[in-house]
Amino acid sequence: MSDEISDLGRKLRTVVGDNHLLQDADLTAGYSTDWTGRFQGHTPLVVRPANTFELAQVVILVAEAGLAIVPQGGNTGLVGGSVPLNGEIVVSTVRLDQCEAVDQLAQQVTLGAGVTLVQAQNHVASSSLVIGVDLAARDSCTIGGMIATNAGGINVLRYGAMREQVLGIEAVLADGSVISHLEGLEKDNTGYHLPSLLAGSEGTLAIITRARLRLHPYLPVRCTAMLAFSSVEDAVEATSALKRSVPSLHAVEVLFSDAMHLVSEHIGSAVPIGEKSAAWLIVEAAGSNDPLEELAGAIDDLGAVVVDVGVGVDTSSRNNLWQYREKVTEAISAKGTPHKLDVTLGASKLAEFISQLPSVVSALDGDLSVYMFGHLGDGNVHVNVLANNGGAPSERVDAAVLEYVAKLGGSISAEHGIGTAKKNFLHLNRTTAEISAFRSIKHALDPQQVLNPHVLLPQEDS
Ligand SMILES: Cc1cc2nc3c(=O)[nH]c(=O)nc-3n(C[C@H](O)[C@H](O)[C@H](O)COP(=O)(O)OP(=O)(O)OC[C@H]3O[C@@H](n4cnc5c(N)ncnc54)[C@H](O)[C@@H]3O)c2cc1C
Repeated sequence: MSDEISDLGRKLRTVVGDNHLLQDADLTAGYSTDWTGRFQGHTPLVVRPANTFELAQVVILVAEAGLAIVPQGGNTGLVGGSVPLNGEIVVSTVRLDQCEAVDQLAQQVTLGAGVTLVQAQNHVASSSLVIGVDLAARDSCTIGGMIATNAGGINVLRYGAMREQVLGIEAVLADGSVISHLEGLEKDNTGYHLPSLLAGSEGTLAIITRARLRLHPYLPVRCTAMLAFSSVEDAVEATSALKRSVPSLHAVEVLFSDAMHLVSEHIGSAVPIGEKSAAWLIVEAAGSNDPLEELAGAIDDLGAVVVDVGVGVDTSSRNNLWQYREKVTEAISAKGTPHKLDVTLGASKLAEFISQLPSVVSALDGDLSVYMFGHLGDGNVHVNVLANNGGAPSERVDAAVLEYVAKLGGSISAEHGIGTAKKNFLHLNRTTAEISAFRSIKHALDPQQVLNPHVLLPQEDS
């Protein structure tokens, strides 16, 4: 270890205490590799401050040492933005885990950035309220990470993504100053809306320490249906019809054929309905009154395009249907280290994309498998490419998939962000003027490039 790092380590230890400055490689390893295993970095130091004041001191000390920081929450991000790929110092928010009392009158809550989604869900449940964003990484992903990535998940069609939930924010800027605006006023047009700026900023502009979130009434009665379709076009049209005709619609998720067969094998279960289908929707309706009749009527109206239907009304039968969607990421990871390409297409381009993508990929390498699933209600497809020989797919595959998405007018990142994985493809969706505006914001708030300097923005031409 260099004298510079030893000196910084000594100073950081006085701020966070011995137990929260990690240096041994076996202790820092878990903070250096991402959830997929695709992105493996290294760090000399992991720092775990207990509060905003400590975190600000940490930022000042690292900046004074001329080093860079990777902010890390639950490390469930899938685009290589949360791990130190260039030897950065990791600042973990794991100890910023305070949940303040729910403001029942305003239906809001202030949470520490390190609170996991499941902790937040449990905390507000006793007030019969819910957090508007839910996703399968809920046991580990944190409120700060969810804001920093503008996480989406399974209920975006009802409540919007994470940006729509954030009413106020507290964060430490790159110079150690603290911005704090947590009053939670629904109307507050007093200049630039910093929560919106930080939502989706992927740790490049500030480290979020607390957030004021909007809550939603808990909807106690739910029913879930799985619908099988023989074509992707039918599934897309059915999604559009359900969005029009089911006011209580809560989620419309999709699994395409290869992903459905893989997850079924992984959980040791048969494909639940319509084994030879091309696409399966998992549709959930939720309300204060029983939404079953409304959902069943809408499914009847879809007519013969629905090959088969399975319905769950009690928790166990609903969970049985949901497990196929919730376990699919795990099923893919159990087979190898995938390249994950999370994209959105306009509704009119979805069927073309799903049917053509396997040939776009196999034209580059015939020994790859493509698994697709996602949030069809938002046009969001998670493309997972695995090498059949157990190795890693080539980076050219990412380029081919993302270029095809852009050609169809889609977004190369629906909800996971740009991270390090996609920064060289940002130009596919953003103009030179937009990227230049991004750089101006970054330089204004972080001129010394302390916060996640290798994430989101491509390297400038020298
Ligand atoms: C099984 C599984 C399912 C998933 N499903 C979804 C899904 O449905 N929808 C979806 O959107 N995502 C999904 N994800 C991706 C991931 O869970 C989200 O991106 C999540 O928001 C990341 O939160 P985190 O706390 O783990 O952040 P991390 O992975 O720790 O960090 C993600 C990014 O945010 C930055 N960051 C973290 N905390 C802070 C902070 N306090 N201040 C500033 N920057 C910070 C990091 O530097 C990094 O750039 C899934 C992941 C897994 C593993």
